[in-house]
Amino acid sequence: MTVLNAARPSTGRTGSTVAGYPRQGANRELKKATEGYWACRMGAAGLLDTCRQLRLSRWAELAAAGLDELPSNDFSLYDHVLDTSWLLGAIPERHRAAVPDVSTAGSRLDRYFAMARGTASAEPLEMTKWFDTNYHYLVPELAPDTVFDLDPTKPLTEFAEALAAGWRTRPVIVGPISYLLLAKPTADAPEGFRPIDLLDKIIPLYGRLLTLLAEAGADWVQFDEPSLVLDQPQKILELVGNAYRTLAAVEDRPKIIIASYFDRLGEALPVLAGLPVEGLAVDVTGPAAANRDDLVRLGGLPGKRLIAGVVDGRNIWAGDLDATLSILEELAGLADQVDVGTSCSLLHVPLDVALERDLDPAFDGWFAFARQKITEVTTLRRGLVGGRPAIAAELSRNAAHRTARAASPIVGVPAVRNRVAAIVDDDCRRSSGYSQRRPAQRERLRLPELPTTTIGSFPQTSALRRARAALRRREISTEQYDEAMRSEIAEVVAEQERLGLDVLVHGEPERNDMVQYFAEQLDGFLSTQQGWVQSYGTRYVRPPIIVGDVWRPAPMTVGWATYAQSLTDRPVKGMLTGPVTMLAWSFVRDDQPQSDTAAQVALALRDEVADLEAAGIAVIQVDEPALRETLPLRRSGRAEYLDWAVRAFLLTTAGVDDRTQVHTHMCYAEFGDVLDAIIAMDADVISLEAARSKMAIVADLARAGYPNEVGPGVWDIHSPRVPPTEEIIDHLRAATASFGGRIWVNPDCGLKTRDYPEVRESLANLVAAAHEVRTTL
Ligand code: GLN
Ligand code: ZN
Repeated sequence: MTVLNAARPSTGRTGSTVAGYPRQGANRELKKATEGYWACRMGAAGLLDTCRQLRLSRWAELAAAGLDELPSNDFSLYDHVLDTSWLLGAIPERHRAAVPDVSTAGSRLDRYFAMARGTASAEPLEMTKWFDTNYHYLVPELAPDTVFDLDPTKPLTEFAEALAAGWRTRPVIVGPISYLLLAKPTADAPEGFRPIDLLDKIIPLYGRLLTLLAEAGADWVQFDEPSLVLDQPQKILELVGNAYRTLAAVEDRPKIIIASYFDRLGEALPVLAGLPVEGLAVDVTGPAAANRDDLVRLGGLPGKRLIAGVVDGRNIWAGDLDATLSILEELAGLADQVDVGTSCSLLHVPLDVALERDLDPAFDGWFAFARQKITEVTTLRRGLVGGRPAIAAELSRNAAHRTARAASPIVGVPAVRNRVAAIVDDDCRRSSGYSQRRPAQRERLRLPELPTTTIGSFPQTSALRRARAALRRREISTEQYDEAMRSEIAEVVAEQERLGLDVLVHGEPERNDMVQYFAEQLDGFLSTQQGWVQSYGTRYVRPPIIVGDVWRPAPMTVGWATYAQSLTDRPVKGMLTGPVTMLAWSFVRDDQPQSDTAAQVALALRDEVADLEAAGIAVIQVDEPALRETLPLRRSGRAEYLDWAVRAFLLTTAGVDDRTQVHTHMCYAEFGDVLDAIIAMDADVISLEAARSKMAIVADLARAGYPNEVGPGVWDIHSPRVPPTEEIIDHLRAATASFGGRIWVNPDCGLKTRDYPEVRESLANLVAAAHEVRTTL
């Protein structure tokens, strides 16, 4: 332990700050107020006032915690990229038309929410994942003739609000390059147009904003450019130079700091370092740790300010204060001013560990949610200024907690470790190739050509949600709850038989969420009560935490699957969430490689697969919607990731008999980078989202020589629209042209968010289309 080492105090100036903070409030006041406004329970004034109170209490809290500089404009009513579209006036015509008059505060909110959520007449903006996080942003829609028009109200108001309360904040704004790179062309934009072509049009607006912020009293402004951590071509890096040189030339402007996060900057770092801006905020955690060496190699940022993102903003573990302080000491000499900061906005972690009232005291000091991370930042700053003795008590407490965690019997379970160590290649390989498995499965399942099935879930009705809430409040017994689930399963099975589907599902009524449901039953996972993290808009999720070695104390799904199978002669698909998705939608361990955690989860699931098989379930689906989503941002990290991801899937599934059919399901259809991995997963059948992209994925799979069976989704379940039979027939003809009889007929994804009337109609059309195309195969 090095707690007693006297560190050399840093010579330059140092401060502390944060890149952004959770927006929702301790009781998710923001969600309640926003949904109250949508339901007309609250007026515009009430909602705006709630937002103002939330912002003021966030600043007060951060200031009281001792941060030297506070951010502003990191708050959002819905999403910060949407806010940037609003800032630049990039509002699609359909949303202007939906709310034509915006002379009142209420109507401005309505137009803003029209962009976010759509109206009866106007589709919302598309939503997509924010880099490799589980936050979703609203994709700007741009065309060559988009007319930009600055509306600086939000950043200016928030800045003035804070200043009036005594805090000169650093407004945080999505930078021009990332804004355009995150945008997509409108549907009718000419071929070849790219939103980045509009850079010259928006730079003057950013310049004007700088002037206005300076007039309002801002010393610093932060432009977020996270897109620069992706592999960007030289052309883009040149545009970065042009854009920021122009902005830097604005007279009487605040000082500019450019922030990036989530991965290393690589070739973008020297470009940013060479700009005539006053500072950089750089992530130095996780995959971005390499930025440290890169900064040193570059000779630092002489004359500039560096916000060192040393406190991990994406995970919930209490950091290693001693090690982090060493990193800060190394960085301290590299710039004129080095501030202690978070790697990214704390938006991606829950607010406060102290809100977890039922947390076992054994976990004391293990976790740092947003509030605890702020304390880490201010503690580290004191340590950087005063040396280790200045924070001796914190260092020794932190070291004691880390020692306790490392020694905990929850963290290290010898039986699990031994099992992982004993994995051999044969465990990750089906015993026969697909060409031998196919006849064995056909013989057993006796399915028609182009078999029909669904992806797993059926509508989660309000009755189901009520039953779950009643169980939680102990108003009904577990027996009564199970009975309610069984009767739902019976109805779902009967419904599918009536519709004439070939491979049935039990409908997943018992699952609150496809990851949480398993996390609650696996040892090594911890669920939180209040650990809410924004997924999009007013939707928050509570990702489970993988605290220790993972194992399965008892079967998890076998009872439901066998019950469903007992009701029908048709095969019922067992339904599991795969290891990669279990990791992707949880907070993962920081004390062992992800590949080890994935292998542990895979072994637990492998046991479940074996139990399902032994119970007579002939078709087992292992969902991996996150496989594509969590692909590392930089190409250089991808091969290694795909390697362990595929291995974990195979470890889960490959133990079954030739006659057992393994399915997998993924959602997003951009598979370019992962086609080889999908082939290597060797599922007998893969179902994918395909309807929206008009089956483009089928051609991609065919080109890649995908050898097994494919179920390209023929019904876009993201909208309530019922697909006409003719349309499904067209889709199927396109698919069978490449894959012949190796095609399955299914929707794009699960049906849990849909309502029964449209589900019945759509599935009836789907079955009818399959019958029609079968006759001509
Ligand atoms: N089996 C899951 C369901 O149908 C799959 C969900 C998903 O792909 N996200 O709900
Ligand atoms: Zn899906």
